[in-house]
Amino acid sequence: MADYDYDVLIIGSGPGGYVAAIRAAQLGLKTACAEGRATLGGTCLNVGCIPSKALLHGSELYEDAAGGTLAKFGVKTGKVELDLPALLGEKDVAVKDLTGGIEYLFKKNKVTWLKGYATFKDAHTVDVAGQSVTAKNIVIATGSSVTPLPGVEVDNDKSVIVDSTGALQLPAVPKHLVVIGGGVIGLELGSVWRRLGAKVTVVEFLDQVLPGMDGDVRKEAQKLFAKQGIEFKLGTKVTAAAVKGKKATLTLEPAAGGAAETVEADCVLVAIGRRPNTEGLGLEAIGLELNKRGQIETDGSFRTRIDGVWAIGDVIPGPMLAHKAEDEGIAVAENIAGGVGIVNHAVIPSVVYTMPEIAGVGLTEEAAKDAGHTVKVGKFPMVGNSRAKTNRNTDGFVKVIADAGTDRVLGVWMIASVAGTMIAEAALGMEFGATSEDIAYTCHAHPTHSEAVKEAAMAVLGKPIHI
Ligand code: FAD
Ligand code: NAD
Repeated sequence: MADYDYDVLIIGSGPGGYVAAIRAAQLGLKTACAEGRATLGGTCLNVGCIPSKALLHGSELYEDAAGGTLAKFGVKTGKVELDLPALLGEKDVAVKDLTGGIEYLFKKNKVTWLKGYATFKDAHTVDVAGQSVTAKNIVIATGSSVTPLPGVEVDNDKSVIVDSTGALQLPAVPKHLVVIGGGVIGLELGSVWRRLGAKVTVVEFLDQVLPGMDGDVRKEAQKLFAKQGIEFKLGTKVTAAAVKGKKATLTLEPAAGGAAETVEADCVLVAIGRRPNTEGLGLEAIGLELNKRGQIETDGSFRTRIDGVWAIGDVIPGPMLAHKAEDEGIAVAENIAGGVGIVNHAVIPSVVYTMPEIAGVGLTEEAAKDAGHTVKVGKFPMVGNSRAKTNRNTDGFVKVIADAGTDRVLGVWMIASVAGTMIAEAALGMEFGATSEDIAYTCHAHPTHSEAVKEAAMAVLGKPIHI
């Protein structure tokens, strides 16, 4: 048998790659992880989940103080001022702590960090920074990067037209921020800068925001964000951008055709999606082809068509989410070690960390009907929940979608201040095949926002108590 440097070599140290590396090492495999970025943790820890959540948290505190919520609860603050460098500094501390934490975990678990970008030479050999390294198994976990919009050139250094990375470090609050794309990034980062004082306009190609989410949730979310002051231009596309000094002029056209208009902005955020990272990987050297969307296809065990080469995370099909990548990281390591690693892709929760938060798991009502289910739907508004009323955060609702014949829960969707935390019980219930009755008869602590999940489940049978 060939002698390899490592049992497993993982390319990329995002939530997919670093988790796969740690689990492989825990399973006794000699493991290395190649990462070209200066710090470990990938998009998520460096320029994604973590810095965006730091800004969402800080901007929410600022809005609570400046907008009078603290005063309403008897906390007098005097004149509230924004110290933007301090807010950006806190975000940088969070990133440094967490990326450093992965380096510590690598050392603790004896995972070797190969510093540099990896390129395949053959199915068991990669070049990293001019060094040839061999492994019996190679896992591609190279993630994704921002999809460019032709005609709207991003230059993060100038802070006029930026992508999500640039929008995490604007040197000043823009007077007018135009966000291209009403998806997750557009609404999260749009919320951050609106709370800090920017006028925010979201230009969305489709006639609704948040594609892929449940229809009721999409409608309600847009209504709430409009109430918060975000302006929406739906069914609209940006066809050109001209930058002059510190200003951009965008040309907008109705998606269905019609007269163009121009809009001026002192910052433009391009957030129209992300695409898989495969450039420079040398996939041609191993004969691994991409699908039409530029992704690497795998089987349910995360094996590619090439023996010994596996793939996980944003670079393969499925939602581009950190926790999906992490679960695939654990599963691929367990499969490589000869165990059984499975990810139930039907139960991957998704959360938008705005205020209120938006969360869902499983099928939307539309997808359930398209799949041939006759559905029963229970909806419970947060205004009927005692904790939400007490905390004065009554926006939103919980919606439980169950199969009319079996009562099995097919999907749960919600808008609520803490929906990101509440969705976990729905995911757990669905993983165990729960019916709406199972959730309705599960005792929920009082007073918690989660009681709204129980009430929505009771509403499936037409018997909620508090509405
Ligand atoms: P990545 O995290 O993209 O990591 C891939 C790594 O591979 C990178 O560090 C890259 O440098 C490295 N790499 C690439 N090519 C090579 C090579 N040839 N050799 C060596 N290394 C290489 N998801 C959530 O679930 N929750 C959130 O709140 C959330 N917020 C987000 C906010 C923003 C602004 C963005 C942009 C994304 C957010 N995401 C969020 C998505 C999440 O970041 C991704 O789904 C997740 O990071 C994917 O993990 P991954 O391991 O597949 O890849
Ligand atoms: P997205 O797919 O969520 O949204 C992109 C939006 O842009 C869509 O609504 C789309 O219709 C619109 N669009 C596309 N082309 C357009 C055009 N030319 N003009 C106007 N609108 C256009 O993508 P994103 O917001 O860039 O986020 C990328 C990925 O990162 C997502 O897959 C998401 O899952 C992940 N992410 C997750 C979180 C989270 O979990 N909280 C946060 C941020 C990012």
